Amino acid sequence: MKGLAEKKLGRGLLVVLSGPSGVGKGTVVKHAMSARGAEARRLRRSVSVTTRARRTDEREGRDYFFRSREEFTRMAVAGELLEWATYLDNDYGTPREWLDRQLEASYDVVLEIEVQGAMQVRECRPEAVLIYMLPASWRALKQRLKRRRSEAEEVQRRRIEVAREEIKFVPNYDYVIVNDRVSRAGRQLLTILEAERLRVGRADVGCLLGDGGE
Ligand code: 5GP
Repeated sequence: MKGLAEKKLGRGLLVVLSGPSGVGKGTVVKHAMSARGAEARRLRRSVSVTTRARRTDEREGRDYFFRSREEFTRMAVAGELLEWATYLDNDYGTPREWLDRQLEASYDVVLEIEVQGAMQVRECRPEAVLIYMLPASWRALKQRLKRRRSEAEEVQRRRIEVAREEIKFVPNYDYVIVNDRVSRAGRQLLTILEAERLRVGRADVGCLLGDGGE
């Protein structure tokens, strides 16, 4: 017979992680996934579809599914994307099917997406947990973008501009993490997941008590 803790597991958490481009969302999530413990083992990263050109250090299927504009539009029209948005002339979207399969299998899934997409998820999946990641400072963010030498200065400048606009949406999120140290930010992400799982609204209390305590 299943123990109470296992019974409680149920559907995984849908987690949205937004934050300025270059803030280190991916690095923090990977760090959290490599930690010890049940929360880390249950964590998965969603891989988005994009029409953006692949950077030299990126891999198809690991970082993104790189697709043509036509294919992206086809997927959007066919309802294959949970949300999508245009960011600096390129389209980005979350494939719906893989995501729902993972949630069904009790995995927590993180979507690393920008704010327009995050607001769509809030609408269509109100149970989602929305986290915004801030850099320690604007200076730190600019330095990180610079280190990513694959992009022209003009693109970096526009990314900072978008970030200044995005930050106005922070009050629409549930949590804020400041990425001043990857290890701490990763730990905070796992702490949020653990706390969210313990919410009375999420735990299937009826199911827990239904067996008369046996
Ligand atoms: P980048 O070009 O730096 O990889 O991503 C640009 C922005 O698009 C980042 O803020 C990133 O989080 C966001 N993004 C990546 N995938 C998706 C997605 O599937 N949907 C949305 N709405 N934004 C995404």
